[in-house]
Amino acid sequence: MTDEFEKYDAFEKHMTEQFSPMFTEPYGGFCCGEGWWPIIAELCGQIQHHINWRNRQSEIVPQVVVGQIKEKFGGLRFYYDGGDEQIQGMVSMAEAWAAHTCETCGAPGKRRDGGWIKTLCDHHEAERQQRIKQYENQTSQ
Ligand SMILES: [Zn+2]
Repeated sequence: MTDEFEKYDAFEKHMTEQFSPMFTEPYGGFCCGEGWWPIIAELCGQIQHHINWRNRQSEIVPQVVVGQIKEKFGGLRFYYDGGDEQIQGMVSMAEAWAAHTCETCGAPGKRRDGGWIKTLCDHHEAERQQRIKQYENQTSQ
């Protein structure tokens, strides 16, 4: 369990340091599984690169500031202020990418219904089903 927290802390530290202009407001942390972390890192990299490039002479594109990053109904949600139409497109692409990526491990996945909706690979969906079964057995005894 401690490892998980350390891994999360390291990721959060890396992101907020590398993309400090995007994390100037309280945003509530990265509320999704680590399978999606590379997608978020890639998205933030593309956004900041685009802003820096467009604004190399004067500020044309308002700086993106992250509002919230979370999993909702099995999908990645990236809420932010600022940006332009191209950045909107990047965010849509990242959200579409996450919709086909296991939230737990990052392998190809798909939306799973039943209980609460999650996007998972076959392996982690099987694990989840087993946990649900165990839980049902416990509560029915
Ligand atoms: Zn998985």
